[in-house]
Amino acid sequence: LEAKEEFRHKTLATDVMRPRRGDPPLSVLTESEMTVEEVERLIADTTYSGFPVVISQQSPRLVGFVLRRDLVISLENARRHQEGVVSMSPVLFTECDPPLSPSAPPAVKLRSILDLSPFTVTVHTPMEIVVDIFRKLGLRQCLVIHNGRLLGIITKKDILKHMALMANRDPDSILFN
Ligand code: ADP
Repeated sequence: LEAKEEFRHKTLATDVMRPRRGDPPLSVLTESEMTVEEVERLIADTTYSGFPVVISQQSPRLVGFVLRRDLVISLENARRHQEGVVSMSPVLFTECDPPLSPSAPPAVKLRSILDLSPFTVTVHTPMEIVVDIFRKLGLRQCLVIHNGRLLGIITKKDILKHMALMANRDPDSILFN
């Protein structure tokens, strides 16, 4: 994202964010509802560099963002070195532990690898501003929110692809679509 390329199109964050219509839904983690096995499956089934963490599937409010590589290392470590951890162990990103039954397997606590303040914009934020922020803050991705609900993600590569597309098209033709 070189500063010399001006971004003067009228695109909004909602036009660039993923998933697009017809794409699979955003891959998210929940802060206390998932097991080690479920998180490992999500990692195996996707190649994304990171995952937003939300309160729950019913309440997609953003809690933070976790990098894939940190998640992989932490789960491997927990499997290897934390006593009693099994596939059914809960994975917790919460500050306080939810009540667990005494017979439940020990939880894997991962709050320490969570970025609690990932950069966010709204669906209405002009891409001109998003591009400027990516440049100034050196971001790799940002999350897109509407009315407190997490809706999407924009990566640096998504922006570069969008800029390439714009360079070959009449910017007015994509206004608010
Ligand atoms: P990059 O864009 O650098 O290839 P990623 O591999 O993380 O980075 O993302 C690949 C594509 O998937 C991008 O278009 C991005 O917007 C999208 N994406 C990234 N993370 C997620 C996620 N957790 N769920 C769904 N889509 C995602």
